[in-house]
Amino acid sequence: MSNRPNTLYLVVPCYNEEEALPHSAQVMREKLDRLMQEGKVSPESKILLVNDGSRDKTWQLIHSLCDADPAFAGLSFSRNYGHQSAILAGMMAARQHADIAVTIDADLQQDIEALDQFLEKYQAGCEIVYGIRNDRNTDGFFKKLTANGFYGLMHLLGCNVMSNHADYRLLSKKALDALAEYKEVNLFLRGLIPTMGFQSDIVYFDVKEREAGTSKYTFRKMLTLATDGITSMSTRPIQLITIMGFLVSVFSFVMIVYCIADWFLGRNVPGYTTSLVVSLLMGGLTIFSLGIVGEYVGKIYLEAKARPRYIVESFIWKEGNIQSHSTEKEEEPHASN
Ligand code: UDP
Ligand code: MG
Repeated sequence: MSNRPNTLYLVVPCYNEEEALPHSAQVMREKLDRLMQEGKVSPESKILLVNDGSRDKTWQLIHSLCDADPAFAGLSFSRNYGHQSAILAGMMAARQHADIAVTIDADLQQDIEALDQFLEKYQAGCEIVYGIRNDRNTDGFFKKLTANGFYGLMHLLGCNVMSNHADYRLLSKKALDALAEYKEVNLFLRGLIPTMGFQSDIVYFDVKEREAGTSKYTFRKMLTLATDGITSMSTRPIQLITIMGFLVSVFSFVMIVYCIADWFLGRNVPGYTTSLVVSLLMGGLTIFSLGIVGEYVGKIYLEAKARPRYIVESFIWKEGNIQSHSTEKEEEPHASN
């Protein structure tokens, strides 16, 4: 095994995780200790907890964890920006200090023991390591159905996403620097990161039940993620509209010829149902197509405005090794991109 620099930052997005966080933080801390003792990560490694505008006591919890132990660092958004923004902000903050960043959920559903394999792949030369879940047995019927439907649709639309890979992944400093070059507001990391290339590998892990609390991914958040995913990765829906428009035009042309022929032959067609069905169908298809085009126009609008993707309200980071004492540094609130 070669010896690449190994300061690890575990990036943990937290949204209303006051129930799960105390236990999760402890488990992560113990894991980090073990990794350090085994020489797999450096003593400067940290757990970076990103507060995504929680409305409960999450930030207070993060604050006291950071106060008590330099192994924890904290970053807080000015409001809820969503999971994708939280992990991006965490990785961008980690980039300043770390050689490796691994993103993992705060509920410990993703098996933290898989970290050893992630690190092995990194030492073997990988810049990106993707965590892929073994099965979906811990998900409810609805989650399973929507997730499978989503991945099916993404593949149909020609998007290069890995099924069952949900943001449990390792990025090396090199990959983090490359990611920093992407300025898009419409963020879908699962689709974006594979387009960066680099030597990469896969680690399979088991999914567990949520430690505590409930899922923070509401149906609306899932729907937003799915549309962001599709619109940021593929323009196939717009091409499909063109194809559909062409086919409907051909059909219409045939119908016109048929109708004119009818008229010449003096046939009197009642045609009430036919015309109603055709006009309803056309109305529906037109509005649906406009909606799809509108979705892309909206995304262009957001990209054109180029607003910050998130605003960091505070950042706590302490100098020092995991076991040693240290000096605290709380950075001024600032806007970050
Ligand atoms: N999360 C976040 N912002 C949000 C929603 C979720 O940072 O707006 C975090 C959440 O705290 C957790 C991770 O994203 O660490 C995954 O969320 P969750 O476990 O609720 O999703 P599920 O596993 O049910 O898909
Ligand atoms: Mg979860």
